[in-house]
Amino acid sequence: MSEHSLSDTIYVTRPYLPPLAEFLPLLEQIWDSRVLTNKGPFHAQLEARLCEYFEAEHVALMTNGMLALSVAIDAAALSGEIITTPYSFVATTHSVKMGQLEPVFVDVRPGDLNIDPDLIEAAITPRTSAIVAVHCYGNPCDVEAIQAIATRHGLKVIYDAAHAFGVRYRARSLLSYGDFSTLSFHATKAFNTFEGGAVVVRDGDANVAVDRFRNFGIADEVTIPAVGTNAKMSEFNAALGLLQLEHFEHVRSERRRVDALYRAELGELDGLDCLPIPADTEPNFSYFPILVGPEFGASRDALYEALKQQGVNSRRYFYPLLSTLPMYRGLPSAQEERLPVATRAAQRVLCLPIYPELSEGDQRRIIETIKAAR
Ligand SMILES: *Cc1c(COP(=O)(O)O)cnc(C)c1O
Repeated sequence: MSEHSLSDTIYVTRPYLPPLAEFLPLLEQIWDSRVLTNKGPFHAQLEARLCEYFEAEHVALMTNGMLALSVAIDAAALSGEIITTPYSFVATTHSVKMGQLEPVFVDVRPGDLNIDPDLIEAAITPRTSAIVAVHCYGNPCDVEAIQAIATRHGLKVIYDAAHAFGVRYRARSLLSYGDFSTLSFHATKAFNTFEGGAVVVRDGDANVAVDRFRNFGIADEVTIPAVGTNAKMSEFNAALGLLQLEHFEHVRSERRRVDALYRAELGELDGLDCLPIPADTEPNFSYFPILVGPEFGASRDALYEALKQQGVNSRRYFYPLLSTLPMYRGLPSAQEERLPVATRAAQRVLCLPIYPELSEGDQRRIIETIKAAR
């Protein structure tokens, strides 16, 4: 192999890890205490820190983001139909389906690819019990419009906030909106604990339900009033989370640097759109989606292949659209004509590599490959 000053393969993300030397003393504490899970001291500390950070009444740590969604859906005691977006990661719709509920897809809006509040009301029926929306790429949903609709119709609001760690909207944590917000701390997310997640809960009774459901439905040693699962976070992941939290502003600012160079170099290209940074928002820069239009000169898939040829792994995220998957495509709300914006976005989107350690040299190689593909 020849020497390269640049990386040979560039992945769409590279998980941030704090210096190992900072983690070892925390591991020693776990080894000494032999408290490995079931709400140990690191778990308690991380929940307390995240409560402050998310400006939330209650935060419950979970094994991962999928279980966080399932736990929130269970605690919300829903029935019938759930209004949701087809433009997300598959966990969003699967958690609805696994909760014995029927997803009802509503199209997204072009500016941020979040569920379009103007289309929600027409999809509400007497069987509707909740809205499960996604802050796609960390861009805030129209939380005020969605809350107004939910209040008017007596619906619960659950935000899949897997992309939204650390995002602030209108001078508040984005995670403080809605009845529940769920997070993923998966390796690919802006904040990771290898695997992990959390549920942010507004209501105290719901928080009791969340707490029980993640621990087999157990209330105390002899009382098991509910059915539940095992969604507990271990001390290993919680200790890592405490450390990652200290480094998060560094992660955000390095991601901001990458985001800014892409915008400067790609923002003006014909047929290529970057999603704008939304107003009143402090983003986390977790993704860099571009939308490749017909005027670009190469199709989205041709661009994906051209990047791959140069050792650059981009991702068609989100494609395919969830409403086209075999278990959902028979639903009346899944018809393509009803979801034109999401359908077009899924055909055009490409997420470019963005992570704290992406060097300017590597990023310029990505940018030059995109320009040359036209
Ligand atoms: C990653 C992700 C999830 C699932 O989180 P895991 O921790 O991987 O289980 C759910 N929803 C969205 C939108 C995601 O991106």
